[in-house]
Amino acid sequence: MVPLPQETDYSWVDGSDDLTLSRLRLAVAVGLARLAGWVSRLVGWGGSSLPGQVARAIDPLALRHLTAGLRRGVVLVTGTNGKTTTVALAQHLLRRSGWDVVHNRTGANLVLGLTASLAQAGGRNVVPHADLALLETDEASVPRAAAEIRPRGLVVTNFFRDQLDRYGELSHTVELVGRGLGALAEDGWAILNADDPNVARLGSGLGRIVYYGVDREAFATQAGLETGDARNCPFCGRPLIYTFRLYAHVGHYRCEGCGWRRPDPEVAVEYWDPGSKQLRVRFGAAGASVPWALPGLYNLYNQLAAMALAWHLGTDLAVVASALKDFRPAFGRMERAMVSGKEVWIALVKNPTGFNQVLATLAEEETPQAEPRAVGLIAINDDYADGRDVSWLWDVDFERWLPEVAVSRWWVSGRRAWDMAVRMKYAGWAPDQLHVEPDLARALNEAVAAAPERVFVLPTYTAMLSLRRKLTDIGAVRHFREG
Ligand SMILES: [Zn+2]
Repeated sequence: MVPLPQETDYSWVDGSDDLTLSRLRLAVAVGLARLAGWVSRLVGWGGSSLPGQVARAIDPLALRHLTAGLRRGVVLVTGTNGKTTTVALAQHLLRRSGWDVVHNRTGANLVLGLTASLAQAGGRNVVPHADLALLETDEASVPRAAAEIRPRGLVVTNFFRDQLDRYGELSHTVELVGRGLGALAEDGWAILNADDPNVARLGSGLGRIVYYGVDREAFATQAGLETGDARNCPFCGRPLIYTFRLYAHVGHYRCEGCGWRRPDPEVAVEYWDPGSKQLRVRFGAAGASVPWALPGLYNLYNQLAAMALAWHLGTDLAVVASALKDFRPAFGRMERAMVSGKEVWIALVKNPTGFNQVLATLAEEETPQAEPRAVGLIAINDDYADGRDVSWLWDVDFERWLPEVAVSRWWVSGRRAWDMAVRMKYAGWAPDQLHVEPDLARALNEAVAAAPERVFVLPTYTAMLSLRRKLTDIGAVRHFREG
């Protein structure tokens, strides 16, 4: 065995002198990973982790070696909700300012998926040559990914209780991401949500942190009613006092026990003009007026995270403002498509807070009226990627939101359609306005046929993938392959 290269010595990868055994090993690993990827696609295993397994079997340090051609290194994006949208937005902003950015496929966010994505991103080269890799990373995979890659930056969106069968306790998740922060490159930095105490606590005592948040004046009338996942101070255990809450436990908080409080954000929404739909955003000492790119308060935070990252990397604020005007969302993240003359909105749902936020956004978009223009379709599957246990549906506040969303009839679909139907019955939804159709294609056809103008489709992850196949087949959305 030839010893593997030193942790920080990447010279052997790009060195133009003799081909060392290590370089050869990486080239073989990448070649076979690409072959495995090609075969996987050929036999229809779209989301296979095989390329990552193959690459790592040949070169156990493949993930680190694959980042050697990235001039500005790697930024990991993690958190319970909003990773995909934050990566898509940040990539859009950076590309507009001339950066060459590579990213991983949606859903390929475990260490094997990251390896597979980078192994296949190099084009004619072994390793991708680009300015930056933006990698959406599962929270539990952050410590290992960070230890292997030594990223330059880490962006954290939020922490909510996810499906407990997959992630365990919330505090454990926070601790895992904290370990990732400890493994950043020496000149590393982090972009953190100041308004989520579980995220902000990670920045205490660390070097370069850019906090983002929303000033109270921007939404002075907002009153959050949901119970949050952060009730106590992470440092002394006393209950946190909230002076302002935007949703769940996201807001302005302080601890009267030890004095810890929400950090002052460097990047912050100062004002929101509902008329022009423009946000006034502070970037350090400067300010800019930018459009609110995607519906929903939760998406506002994703946009803030992406803008904070782009600003920290030196993107011109005028470029940020103009690029946000023509941003198209990632598939299933409030994406709209036209099907048989009806507008179909697709919003992924995967945990209680995310589901509540989607319903709150629909309630905002579609105010109750005598003749509702929309019908709804909720599709619940229980594959591993969805979470095997569907009991989380009982933590979604349907009691509050169903009456506020102007939808006349709901379809429920997917393998757990009947669980969803029971949940809606308990939330008080009239059974004669509820249609149970486990077959997703059939449910979509029925809902589209019945809708006066719009269909809101709320699928779990694998239901969203089958929905995409159907919509791609009929030409309603552009074809693209991902995780
Ligand atoms: Zn305290």
